[in-house]
Amino acid sequence: MEEDLIAKKAELLIGGDVLLPEGYRMPFRISRSTAGPGAGKRSAVFSFGNVRVKKGISYDSGDFELIDDNGSLSLRRNGKEFIDAVEIMPVVFHSPEQAFFNLDQRCIYNCRFCTSPLLKGDVTRSLTDEKIVEMIRDSMKEQKVISVALTSGVIVSAEETVKRMVSCVRAVRKEFPDIPIGVEPYVDSVDQIIALKHAGADEMKINLETPREDIFKNVCPELNYSLTLEMLKDSVKIFGRGKVTTNLIFGIGESDDDLYNCMSMLASFGCVPGLRGIRLNDMNRESMMSVCTIDHMDKERMIRLAHMQKKILEEHDLTTLTFRTMCFECGCCDLVPFRDL
Ligand code: SF4
Ligand code: SF4
Repeated sequence: MEEDLIAKKAELLIGGDVLLPEGYRMPFRISRSTAGPGAGKRSAVFSFGNVRVKKGISYDSGDFELIDDNGSLSLRRNGKEFIDAVEIMPVVFHSPEQAFFNLDQRCIYNCRFCTSPLLKGDVTRSLTDEKIVEMIRDSMKEQKVISVALTSGVIVSAEETVKRMVSCVRAVRKEFPDIPIGVEPYVDSVDQIIALKHAGADEMKINLETPREDIFKNVCPELNYSLTLEMLKDSVKIFGRGKVTTNLIFGIGESDDDLYNCMSMLASFGCVPGLRGIRLNDMNRESMMSVCTIDHMDKERMIRLAHMQKKILEEHDLTTLTFRTMCFECGCCDLVPFRDL
């Protein structure tokens, strides 16, 4: 993809909301996520070229401005043309072409960057297995649904939460025998990984969050870094090379070398690391700033790291293209090697 489009995507990822024209009616249902960087915000997916970006939207203010010229959409920044042609994409649930559910936004842990448990109201409470299957079935009547993904906060214990996820995977797999299913649980035993695989999950994501254990101890004080790594290694044995991923947040005090070393270590055993720039908002800013160094997010670093990530994956004969679910397939919140660059 052209360098210019990559740079524009990076700028959008780092910048603030998109200001909508007064009275503008969105062509599709507005997404309000309960997980991920945009949790709690009204957002929409904008596409240009083959790039997708999920952005917060507002009628009051924004770093970018949506222009509607008789149905032809473009984006401006600081009064100047930024992207001359954009489209607004429908989301299935949370993600374009993907039914991605957060089974429970509550969580007994207190990761400093995570806003899911802090959101008001619990829209996840009514999500039974039957309801999820019905929602997927109904969406398929209206639009393309290529995959299903499930995440969840931890309620009571990892064991109990995985049981709930296993039950949901089983229900989805029974109804849709061929659809790719991705899961993003917090696990603390190999049996839980096996149970998710046996239930019908195809892809696994367990988040290591940062390349440095000292940073991890500050931002996820109740979780265990070495256990998470162990769970990732076990997952590769059970799900296969190129079917397991992990999120690494950058911009929280780590160096490029830290990321290089950690991504190389993960790739050496077949795990495909994903990189995500830290996003701060009113719910997590104070808490994060009290425990780690927040680096200025610049697009040059974001692009440099994405190229580094791609090189490491190539050296280990891995790619993001083996994933049909979750963030690599969605591509809305990061620069994704082999897809964006
Ligand atoms: S384990 Fe941490 S990141 Fe995951 S939902 Fe709970 S608080 Fe959020
Ligand atoms: S990239 Fe991941 S976190 Fe972002 S919208 Fe897509 S699925 Fe959600």
